[in-house]
Amino acid sequence: MAEQSYHILLYYKFVHIPDPEAFKDEHLQYCKELGLKGRILVASEGINGTVSGTIEQTEQYMRDMKANPLFADMVFKVDPSEGHAFRKMFVRHRQELVTFRVEDELDPNEISGKRLAPKEFYEYLQRDDVIVLDGRNDYEYDIGHFRNAIRPDVQSFREFPEWIRENLSEHKDKTILTYCTGGIRCEKLTGFMIKEGFQDVAQLDGGIVTYGKDPEVQGRLFDGKCYVFDERISVPINQTDEDVIVGKCHHCGKPEDRYINCDNDACHLQHICCEECEELHHACCSKECEEIVLAGHNAS
Ligand SMILES: [Zn+2]
Ligand SMILES: [Zn+2]
Repeated sequence: MAEQSYHILLYYKFVHIPDPEAFKDEHLQYCKELGLKGRILVASEGINGTVSGTIEQTEQYMRDMKANPLFADMVFKVDPSEGHAFRKMFVRHRQELVTFRVEDELDPNEISGKRLAPKEFYEYLQRDDVIVLDGRNDYEYDIGHFRNAIRPDVQSFREFPEWIRENLSEHKDKTILTYCTGGIRCEKLTGFMIKEGFQDVAQLDGGIVTYGKDPEVQGRLFDGKCYVFDERISVPINQTDEDVIVGKCHHCGKPEDRYINCDNDACHLQHICCEECEELHHACCSKECEEIVLAGHNAS
């Protein structure tokens, strides 16, 4: 096994950042000087980031961030890595940390669902009177999710409010459990649901990645892999022998959980594809894309 001398950090914090535009500029400069790569979003409501670097660089980053009173109690999820998980360093200023665009502003520090630690979440999962809602996009669900979780028919987070109003409104008296990758999306999702009149909403604190690291639950009841937004594309969660493959190859339908991007530059559709089909279809998602690539009309 290659030496794992790099770390990948995942973190967020909802806290008022007074001048996000200026903070963004300074932070980008600082991250570049430190040698980190990754993606950080800054908004007046807080920060959400994922970066990779050597152990030394990432330790330094966490120390520096915690020295800032705004981020003193920030929780960092740390994954080992064989190298950088990103190609570049981006820091961007956004209106919202997760694009939700609901009518009312949602401040997770004011309104948000109950936070469940992995062990509590695991216990809730085994009850038969709860509804488990995956708080991510359909393509994330498709390679791995909690057993019996509902797959929301959404391709982006901003579609959730409408989907929830249309599909879950009759269950407002039920206990609803939500989860997402690192926990940030649930902070907004559960707040929205409480405002909509749902009476008992709870979220997995720290998300799937924290759940997978819990020494007691060991990722139990999570089937498949967890989609992540870096070059790894997915990470294992369930550490028990119950680990299964839940995805299906886009072409042949056989169990598979690797995503590739369509080789046609004008398409780039991310699709689940087995190794045989990748070769057979020249890493393309469709006949049309394959023809373009084989004719040498690819942009690159
Ligand atoms: Zn296949
Ligand atoms: Zn394609």
